[in-house]
Amino acid sequence: MNTKELDAAYVAPTYKRFPLEIVSGKGSVVQDENGKEYIDLGSGIAVTSFGVADSVWQQAVIDQIGKVQHMSNLYYTAPCAKLAEMLCQKTGMKKVFFSNSGAESNECAIKAARKYAAEAHGPDCFTIVTLKNSFHGRTVTTLSATGQEHYHELFRPLTPGFVHVTAGDMDELKALAEHTKIAGILIECVQGEGGVVPLSKDYVRDVAALCGEKDILLMVDEVQTGNGRTGELYAYMHYGIRPDIVSTAKGLAGGLPLGATLLGEKVQHVFGFGDHGSTFGGNPVSCAAALSVLSRIDGQLLAEIREKSAYLFDTFRDAPGIASVSGLGLMIGLKTEKPAGQVVAACMEQGVLCLTAKDKVRLLPALNIPMQTLQKAAEIIKAVCAEQGGC
Ligand SMILES: *Cc1c(COP(=O)(O)O)cnc(C)c1O
Repeated sequence: MNTKELDAAYVAPTYKRFPLEIVSGKGSVVQDENGKEYIDLGSGIAVTSFGVADSVWQQAVIDQIGKVQHMSNLYYTAPCAKLAEMLCQKTGMKKVFFSNSGAESNECAIKAARKYAAEAHGPDCFTIVTLKNSFHGRTVTTLSATGQEHYHELFRPLTPGFVHVTAGDMDELKALAEHTKIAGILIECVQGEGGVVPLSKDYVRDVAALCGEKDILLMVDEVQTGNGRTGELYAYMHYGIRPDIVSTAKGLAGGLPLGATLLGEKVQHVFGFGDHGSTFGGNPVSCAAALSVLSRIDGQLLAEIREKSAYLFDTFRDAPGIASVSGLGLMIGLKTEKPAGQVVAACMEQGVLCLTAKDKVRLLPALNIPMQTLQKAAEIIKAVCAEQGGC
């Protein structure tokens, strides 16, 4: 059997895969099983921060694999300690808990908030507020946090203690806070899976102010928006807020599994021995990869990301067949007149890999995608969207 047949026979069919087997690549260009090349604007869903098989990233991974690949958290390893230091120095946060995925980084954020709130305000202060249209993960608890009904349907009963409010509606949130003890409010500054929708600056600042007033923890899910994706190291930095808890994963280690939950001043001492743990969390190879990734996300790279973002907005704004452009940095959503799925399929035919999010075409190119490569891909997308009739 070939790969597609093996997959059909033996892999649980939870993914609707594109009819494409990727066998190799370099940077922002990948190759399928027939040697056809594609410009990759998906980056493994915002994971391969510097593209596929990037040589600097590879060397960092190879160096660490040559020393020790795993030791468990019963022993100290340098990459884990150094990465925690780097994350704190770059954000002003105080402590880091490492895990392996976005969902786990949010699980840790939720546990930290629940423990802090119970100790500070009593055991009935446990509610975590999240936004409608949010996405926080697939474990039962992060699913419960996710404010999209269709993810919930088949998996009840969900974890109690989550309330979903409408993004942008401060009155609804204030009214809720009048009669409910809230432990934390968890937001994505740009809703990713929800359709690449940035929250307004006013709303985020008002949420932060309410949190400050009522000692509610301000929790930011930076799983997709983090690690340079939006043109700042973390998306909350565009908003002038200081979160109490930041969760991140996806692009952090550039293609290896790693989650991190950053704890601010208020919650820095919330966890003690045995309160939380993870066998693989803080794995030295993943942490060495993340040290390499983070050390390359400097002022110059962030400026280039913002320039490329401006180029994409300029290219797609008012383009034929494109109704609107949304997003921040290199996290872009296109509302196209044709169904997003049709656009993505036609782009693939022409050698460009895009994603969808809800009814939008979603673009998450590598942070260092060469401008020429990005221009080539953008012109193809533009042509596909402008084309009359079906694809
Ligand atoms: C992808 C994503 C998650 C879940 O991450 P996993 O690594 O798949 O568990 C959580 N939150 C946001 C905002 C995401 O985009």
